[in-house]
This record gives sequence, structure tokens and C-alpha cells, in this order.
Amino acid sequence: MVMKIIRNCRECPHGSYYSGGAYECAAMDFKRFPDREAGDTVQPWCPLDLAPASIT
Ligand code: SF4
Repeated sequence: MVMKIIRNCRECPHGSYYSGGAYECAAMDFKRFPDREAGDTVQPWCPLDLAPASIT
């Protein structure tokens, strides 16, 4: 079941700002990446399923 469509980590309920310019992903054991990348897209290692093309 698709609960929400997200296009970047800032829209994702698993993502949150950590500290010192770092953002983190709770779905990947709080893996960190630069905050400046959070609003661009999802991370290349994102574990979420791609939404079916019919609903994007
Ligand atoms: S990598 Fe995927 S699961 Fe993690 S915060 Fe970004 S969109 Fe959410």
C-alpha cells in the first residue's frame, strides 16, 4: 500500500536534521548525509520502493 509519495528526503517521515549540516535517515540505521542534499532527491541507497508510474 502506498502511504505517501515523496520526491526528496525532506518530505520523508524517516528523514530528519541531525546537526552540523548533516541530515539522517532513520530507515537506514540513522545513516547521515549532507543536509544540502536532503531537498534535492532521495539518496541513491534509499530503501523505499519506487512508486508505480501510474500514480506518479
Ligand atoms: S533515503 Fe529514503 S528513507 Fe531515507 S530519508 Fe531519504 S527518502 Fe527517506
